[in-house]
Amino acid sequence: MIDAHGHLEDRAFDTDRDEILGNLKDYGIDYFFNCGSNIQTSKTSVDFAKKYDNVYAIVGIHPLDADEYSEDSLKIIRDLSKNEKVVAIGEIGLDNHYDDSPSPEVQEEAFLGQLDLAVELKMPVVIHAREADQKVFDILKSYKDKHEDFVALLHCFSGSVELMREYMKLGFYISLGGVTTFKNAKKPKEVAIEVPLDRLLLETDCPYMTPVPFRGKRNEPKYVLHTAKNIASLRGISLEELEKQTDANTLRFYRLSND
Ligand SMILES: [Zn+2]
Ligand SMILES: [Zn+2]
Repeated sequence: MIDAHGHLEDRAFDTDRDEILGNLKDYGIDYFFNCGSNIQTSKTSVDFAKKYDNVYAIVGIHPLDADEYSEDSLKIIRDLSKNEKVVAIGEIGLDNHYDDSPSPEVQEEAFLGQLDLAVELKMPVVIHAREADQKVFDILKSYKDKHEDFVALLHCFSGSVELMREYMKLGFYISLGGVTTFKNAKKPKEVAIEVPLDRLLLETDCPYMTPVPFRGKRNEPKYVLHTAKNIASLRGISLEELEKQTDANTLRFYRLSND
């Protein structure tokens, strides 16, 4: 099983981070993708990837950290991306949830600058979109229209089935996590059922978004299993079939395999 997106550098793991990273296989996790959200956590993600064989890194500046974005920080992201275990630029995007977050203009500048970088480096992008579904879609579609190879993963996808279908037309991927196990999560459940099986990835986004039955506790890579079980049962397929397919999708999206 693979956890396609999480944040083990988070403070929540200060007491047992190395224990988790060093024993992922014992927890049933074959690969883990640590996603940066600013310069510091991008560097830490690369450190994890260098230290642990089955850990890969994603580097970038999150919309809520967009105040960090500058020519200098973009250069740092570019340099970090040269490491052979960096598989994507992310998480990048737009987030309008909070009142005190960076302005829409600042967020958009950081988003576009990093999309340009990904195009230049021919790397996939991991997208964070919150309360900005249409704007993010319009931007990503404009990149796809200009660059045929451009490919994105909508992480922790919270949009509608209709929006998911629009992304599928662009050849993109979505990843789903613990939210799909929440009782009141109507849209994510619908998306989990309707998304083509060859475009779905599974993630924890740990330490956040902990699936039922551990909701309220710290999320960890091993809990991706509970999301997988839930989606398999929603779709009426076996856990083995879902896992085989989502694992293959993850390796294909991050360009670690050719199938
Ligand atoms: Zn995110
Ligand atoms: Zn995340």
